[in-house]
Order: sequence, then C-alpha cells, then structure tokens
Amino acid sequence: MLCDFDGTATPCIVIDMLYRKFAAPSCLQMVKLWEQGKISTPEEMRACFATVTASQAEMEHFLSTIPLDPALADLLDFCKQRGYHFAIVSDGLVWYIQHILHCHGIHNVTIYANEIHFGPNGLRLSFPWYSPETPLRGTSKLALVRRYQADGFQVVFIGDGLSDVEVVGATDVLYARASLLDYCRAHHSPVIPFLNLREVLEDLRKRDWSAHSIG
Ligand SMILES: [Mg+2]
Repeated sequence: MLCDFDGTATPCIVIDMLYRKFAAPSCLQMVKLWEQGKISTPEEMRACFATVTASQAEMEHFLSTIPLDPALADLLDFCKQRGYHFAIVSDGLVWYIQHILHCHGIHNVTIYANEIHFGPNGLRLSFPWYSPETPLRGTSKLALVRRYQADGFQVVFIGDGLSDVEVVGATDVLYARASLLDYCRAHHSPVIPFLNLREVLEDLRKRDWSAHSIG
C-alpha cells in the first residue's frame, strides 16, 4: 500500500506551509509555476530553500504543530495484521514526514521522498527516487508503483494531488480525493473516492485480498 503524505496522511500541504513561513515571499510564484507544470519539484525546492534562513530546529518546532489524519495509526496496524507492505510515497521531504510521524508516536514507516541534508555550510537537497519518465517530479511515484508490481505485488495507492496524477491507470486500486479525484473522473479512470483515512480503512476491511499480495 502506497500512501501520499501532504494532503493525504495529513490534511496540510506541509511543503507550502514551510515556504509560506520560512522562505521568501517570491517563492509563492515558484509554487504557482510548479502547479502549472512549468517547473519541476527539484527546481521549485532548490529555488525556495535557497531563500530559507531559519534553522532546522526552528522549522522542526513549527512542524511539531502539524496534525496527522487520526486513522493513520489504525491503517498501519491493519496493514501489519494483514501482512501488507505500507510505505509513504511523497514528492515532499523525508525529513519533515519523519519528524511529523515521530511527533505523533509513529515510527519505522518506509518513506520514499526527496531528501534534505542540513550541514554546517547550509542545506543540500537530493532526489534519490527521480525518474526521467516523470520529469516534473522529484520522486517518481509511477516508478515506485511499477517497482512493487514487478516484484509481484498488487498496489493500492492513496493520494490527493498533482504529484499523484502519473500513477492514475497504473495502480491496482486507487483511492483519491481533491484534485486527484477530479483528474481521475475527467479521465474516466477507475477510482474510489475517500474523505479521510478512516473511510479508506473501512473500505479495505470489506475487501478480500490475500495476504502478501498488497504492496
Ligand atoms: Mg498530496
């Protein structure tokens, strides 16, 4: 099971909140360009984080206030009980995802996302899951879906936004809300709408998948 983070596991778009609070106001223009598909995630992140002067600790203090979907812990327990793999797939950053999860007592979750390294000479970004197949994203969710499928897993995907659209039509089951749901409907692609992770969990419980088949 692959789950998006910003807007899905948390109701917040954390990366945009970080830009608004800690980056230069001009970054909002970069966010607009990204939303229009005119610049990639690595371009947006490099431009915006270059203007950040706050320390890692200052930003983490802010991140501690971000809420999580209250059903995420139950969804993780459900996956564990059934023997399903669960991973967060995000075009955001491992750093803040891990920090927010830890603040809510959630540990040991696999995270595929972009990386930020804080060092004495400033911060550095890297994109270990980039694929030229999805050049606008730092993390290619499509490549990750295909990797699990090549290993013989069925992939259930949960998402909400622009960084998820490339997986539409590629997953075995897709739960969507917000703009991802609109995109699926506009493209007549099979999708299960959801409002929150409690609804996803209730729907999953009704289904009869054999253990070890869900990536
Ligand atoms: Mg999202």
